[in-house]
Amino acid sequence: MKTKEEWNALAFAYSRTPFRYVARYANGRWEEGKLTERAEVVLGESAGVLQYAQTCFEGLKAYTAKDGRIVCFRPDMNAKRMADSARALEMPPYPEDKFLEAVKAVVAANREFVPPYGTDASLYLRPTMYATGAVLGVKPADEYEFRIFASPVGAYFKGGIRPLKLRVSDFDRAAPHGTGHVKAGLNYAMSMHAGAEAHAEGFDENLYLDAATRTFVEETGGANFLFVSKDNALVTPRSSTILPSVTRRSLEYVAEHLLGMKAEERPVPFAEIGSFSECGLCGTAAVISPVGEIDDHGRKISFSADAPVLMKLRETLTGIQRGEIDAPEGWLFPVV
Ligand SMILES: *Cc1c(COP(=O)(O)O)cnc(C)c1O
Repeated sequence: MKTKEEWNALAFAYSRTPFRYVARYANGRWEEGKLTERAEVVLGESAGVLQYAQTCFEGLKAYTAKDGRIVCFRPDMNAKRMADSARALEMPPYPEDKFLEAVKAVVAANREFVPPYGTDASLYLRPTMYATGAVLGVKPADEYEFRIFASPVGAYFKGGIRPLKLRVSDFDRAAPHGTGHVKAGLNYAMSMHAGAEAHAEGFDENLYLDAATRTFVEETGGANFLFVSKDNALVTPRSSTILPSVTRRSLEYVAEHLLGMKAEERPVPFAEIGSFSECGLCGTAAVISPVGEIDDHGRKISFSADAPVLMKLRETLTGIQRGEIDAPEGWLFPVV
C-alpha cells in the first residue's frame, strides 16, 4: 500500500501495469477484444502505422471519487472523439459502447493501481488505434489494432501550481481543412521540433496562431486556451482546426451553469488577448494551468499569476470530478 504522498509523487510517465485491452480488426470487422498481459506490440515492417502514421489516440483518467466508487470523467466523449478521429484517418471506428466496456475491463483488471480518494494521482488510460496491416503504396491499411493501456500517474503540479510562460510560435500546428481537430499522432510529431525549440529558449509551450491568417489564437501543442475578460466572461477560441478538448467543453458548461459566468466560444484575435485579465491552458492531465506571460517576439503580454477566476473554475471542475460537488447527469461514469 502506497501512502498519499507516494501516490502524488508518481511522475506523469509510463509505468507498466499488468493488463491491457486489445481488439483486432481484420476481414472487414472488429473481432471481440480481450485483456492481455502482453505489453509489446509485434508489427510487420510495412505496417501502415510505421509507414504513413495511420494512428490516433485518447487520454482519460480513472480515480476514486469521494463515495469510494472508481470512476472516469465523461469517457463517452473520448469514445466519440476517437471514432471521429478514426473516420478522419480512414480507419474503422471502434464502436463507442465497446470502448466503454474496454475502459471498464482495463480499470477493473488493474484496480490496485487506482489511487485512493484524497490524492491528486490517477490511473491514466491511453486508448490508441493503429494500422497493423501491410502497405507499400499510399492507402489505408486493411488491418488495425485497438488498445487501452493504463499507467498510474501522480499529481500534475508537484509543489503547487506555477504560472506558465509561453511564446508565439513561428511554426503552424494545423492547416485549414487539415487534421487539427483530430487526435492524431502526426499532429504531435510535427509539433515536437517547435516544442523543443521553445523549451531550449526557456518557454513552457508554444502558442500557435491560425495558419491561414496568423491573426487568431489556436491552441498549444496539446492544450486548449481559456481567457477571462475584464468583465469576468470565460472566452475560449472557436476554430475548426483546434482539438475539441473535453476539459474545455466541460469548463464552458461549469462557467455558465454553475458559476453564473458568461461563456463565449468565438474566434479570438491575437490582438485582443492583452485586454484579458487571465489566461490558462486546459486538458485532462493538468485540468487548468494558468499562463503568466506570453512572449510575442520580445513583446511581453502578462496575465494575473494567481488567476483567481480560473482557479475557481478549476476547483469547481475537480470538485465535480471527485464527487464532492453534484455532477451534471452522466459526467461521472462508474467503472468498477
Ligand atoms: C488531447 C488534446 C487536448 C486536450 O483535450 P482533453 O480532452 O481536455 O484532454 C487539447 N489539445 C490537443 C491538441 C490535444 O491533443
